[in-house]
Amino acid sequence: MSLDYNSLLLAIGFSAACLSLTLFGIWLTARTEKFLLTWAISALLIVGDVFIYRDYIDAPGRLLGMASFAVLLVGFSTMLGAAYQFTSGRSPIPLTVLGSGISLAVALPPMALGYDGLGFMLENSCAALLLFATAREYWKGRAEAPVPIIGLTVLYSATAISFVLCAVVLAWDGRLVLGHAPSNWAEDLSLVIVIASMTGIGALSLALNQGRLARYHRLDALTDPLTGLLNRRALFDLNSSAPIGAFTAVVVFDLDGFKAINDEFGHATGDRVLKVFAEELTGNLRPADVAARMGGEEFALVLKRTLPETVEHAAERIRTAFAARVVETETRPLSCTVSAGFAFGSKDGMSFDKVLSAADKALYAAKRGGRNRVSTFRRAS
Ligand code: GH3
Ligand code: MG
Ligand code: MG
Repeated sequence: MSLDYNSLLLAIGFSAACLSLTLFGIWLTARTEKFLLTWAISALLIVGDVFIYRDYIDAPGRLLGMASFAVLLVGFSTMLGAAYQFTSGRSPIPLTVLGSGISLAVALPPMALGYDGLGFMLENSCAALLLFATAREYWKGRAEAPVPIIGLTVLYSATAISFVLCAVVLAWDGRLVLGHAPSNWAEDLSLVIVIASMTGIGALSLALNQGRLARYHRLDALTDPLTGLLNRRALFDLNSSAPIGAFTAVVVFDLDGFKAINDEFGHATGDRVLKVFAEELTGNLRPADVAARMGGEEFALVLKRTLPETVEHAAERIRTAFAARVVETETRPLSCTVSAGFAFGSKDGMSFDKVLSAADKALYAAKRGGRNRVSTFRRAS
């Protein structure tokens, strides 16, 4: 089958241009996802390379050849930088500069000296290495979303292999000086693979990014922004699906006289006190325990596989630790106390709502009993 090389090249140019525009557009709506911008730039460099390479095919010359090598290799290095930025959240610049520096130092000199055949061999090899490195970068982050990331790794590797084939066919031919752009079955195959991969890579990367944003939003919707604890909704999501058994306890905490603190010291100081309490709460937990801010100055803990004495100890530990904390303010140091109530589920299982309201009743008893204490819910027998 004979393929029209020029049309394939143009197809790459157009699909890379569309990809670049799409990425840029998405970046504009989600500026925190900076890797989209890096990636849009890398796709734009590939577009640039396509047009320079087309000119080179028509009029092969050292300068055009070098420009084509440079734009392609910097483009692939930027793509590697974008992958690193996506998986690590760090700046793509050092890796992009390193990739560009090494590959240009390897591929440009032979082209500059007129050994275009050798230049193309080395350019294809460097492109392959950069693409393999990109595949590896995604592979390292596969835990986040295995299916799209494994797909990306495969597509980048397939593209890398197509460049390896181009280098091998040229090396097999053994001509250091060609005088024209390489033209062989490996080049044709590579173009087809690049077109197919780029479409797939575009779709998978966008899906990956959408998935990441959705996870962020979900996390956002479940987190209390002031304390970083789970919020009320998250606590209900986690505990409402199954009945609460006899060895699971719910503890509710309510800061004492908190309104007076706000009134005397201001809302910002009140917020600091809430953060201090959240620190004490999380600092006194076992890994399986769940802490949440229910709203205002009310917090809850869910403790699994536990007994009344253990729960009482845990709540007492938190109560005394919090009472001992001193918060410095502009006028005078302040300290605050907390009351807590707890209740257990039952042998036959109880709804989370019911256990929570039982713990609330115990909390109310602690408040009535003089505050700064822990009470347990006693079922009427
Ligand atoms: P008690 O000992 O009976 O619990 O009295 P209290 O003053 O702690 O309880 P009350 O329910 O009267 O007041 C709670 C206050 O918490 C009122 C509200 O303005 C304040 N509050 C609620 N959410 C926040 C918040 O996010 N930040 C701050 N600083 N204050 C808050
Ligand atoms: Mg309250
Ligand atoms: Mg209160």
